[in-house]
Amino acid sequence: MAYDFDLFVIGAGSGGVRAARFAARFGAKVAVAESRYLGGTCVNVGCVPKKLMVYSAHFSEDFEHAKGFGWSVGKPGFDWSTLIANKDREINRLNGIYRKLLVDSGVTLLEGHAKIVGAQKVEINGHTYSAERILIATGGWPQIPDVPGREHAISSNEAFFLKELPKRIVVVGGGYIAVEFASIFNGLGADTTLVYRGELFLRGFDGSVRKHLHEELLKRHMGIRFNSDISRIDKQSDGSLLLTMKGGEALETDCVFYATGRRPMLDNLGLESVDVKLDKHGYIEVDKHYQSSEPSILAIGDVIGGVQLTPVALAEGMALARRLFKPEQYRPVDYNHIPTAVFSLPNIGTVGLTEEAAIEAGHEVQIFESRFRPMKLTLTDDQERTLMKLVVDAKTDRVLGCHMVGPDAGEIVQSLAIAIKAGATKQVFDDTIGVHPTAAEEFVTMRTPVQR
Ligand SMILES: Cc1cc2nc3c(=O)[nH]c(=O)nc-3n(C[C@H](O)[C@H](O)[C@H](O)COP(=O)(O)OP(=O)(O)OC[C@H]3O[C@@H](n4cnc5c(N)ncnc54)[C@H](O)[C@@H]3O)c2cc1C
Repeated sequence: MAYDFDLFVIGAGSGGVRAARFAARFGAKVAVAESRYLGGTCVNVGCVPKKLMVYSAHFSEDFEHAKGFGWSVGKPGFDWSTLIANKDREINRLNGIYRKLLVDSGVTLLEGHAKIVGAQKVEINGHTYSAERILIATGGWPQIPDVPGREHAISSNEAFFLKELPKRIVVVGGGYIAVEFASIFNGLGADTTLVYRGELFLRGFDGSVRKHLHEELLKRHMGIRFNSDISRIDKQSDGSLLLTMKGGEALETDCVFYATGRRPMLDNLGLESVDVKLDKHGYIEVDKHYQSSEPSILAIGDVIGGVQLTPVALAEGMALARRLFKPEQYRPVDYNHIPTAVFSLPNIGTVGLTEEAAIEAGHEVQIFESRFRPMKLTLTDDQERTLMKLVVDAKTDRVLGCHMVGPDAGEIVQSLAIAIKAGATKQVFDDTIGVHPTAAEEFVTMRTPVQR
């Protein structure tokens, strides 16, 4: 049977664009449908605009630090609308690049909401197309819990487009998005409070990292409330918000921002017309080839609920395109040792096992840890300290994990991830000559294990 397309991709985000472009490049006839914005979450309301805002927030420290090096900069001023307008211009430019990448690779781009109407049929803009395979790459969507007054709250989707910088903001959540946005607003000068119902934020990250970041955020005068949650939100006559906390206490703010998790984006996707099974959390269940329980329907990226990061969605898109249309180049995605960063101020960079996970996995561990004041701050009043940590298997000497809190942690850990992936031992780290003077050299000069 002849189909309109070999592959019909729903969602032009990180995973969908990668799969579509490469499938087309390998000779397949490909369509991609996008209802909202080219490039998906990462480009429009995720990694990219967030990182631009993190850069902006960092300037408040940079101006302070500059004084110690002899610069006088007067009283710095910040204009939110300039930041947002410049950010929007850059995102528009990236949207154009994504459009060109798709069109130049020979992909048919269909702009509108796509709905599956059969195991090999997709409807969009009043047309129904047939496809040998359908790829669902529809990503995720922020989830705000059902508290009374939730209509007054925003999520990350709106935070990028606020008309003005709130004077006071409460960020709710304990994951990386909450911590990053709290850092952004705090750095930009908003009176910022982070509210998290657990004991300590960033569950799943190394314990030393979580504690160290907590201390550093307190030094930056961020309000942090653990074991705390909001029970209702009321708008007051002057436009401000009154938060009633569980326990009865009241907290006044101008903006409340929930970063309390994301759900798979399956709205009006037509899954009821096919046999696609969902897992217990509502994500699309797939096998190791990203195939759903409906053999012609595949899924990748955030919608399958695995590791929800752009490079992972890209890798899945690539693996899928290769397996289907260039099998001689196929390599499955290796989910081990995925490095990641939290772009809080200061940054976290991490790869491999945490101390807690290594112990739980049965390793006898040796821990190397260093805390120091970065050289760049020695001429300033800033008391920020950097943390570097190695988790080593005491029996094999293999480095199981590297963790850092400090400037450029993401940049530094990206390179270390190669060593970890290659199976480097602590001896290899010790034999590596440092680059002096850098902060990163500390990773190859830690000699004495910490006594626990
Ligand atoms: C605030 C925030 C910050 C983040 N920061 C980072 C970071 O620093 N580093 C990192 O690696 N990851 C980060 N992420 C995660 C990253 O953005 C996602 O993992 C990644 O975008 C997932 O890609 P995807 O292809 O699965 O989905 P998406 O990029 O979400 O793309 C899905 C696309 O499908 C479209 N779509 C949905 N339904 C339909 C339909 N029915 N018809 C047509 N189109 C449809 C959507 O409009 C969207 O464009 C961040 C996420 C958020 C929210």
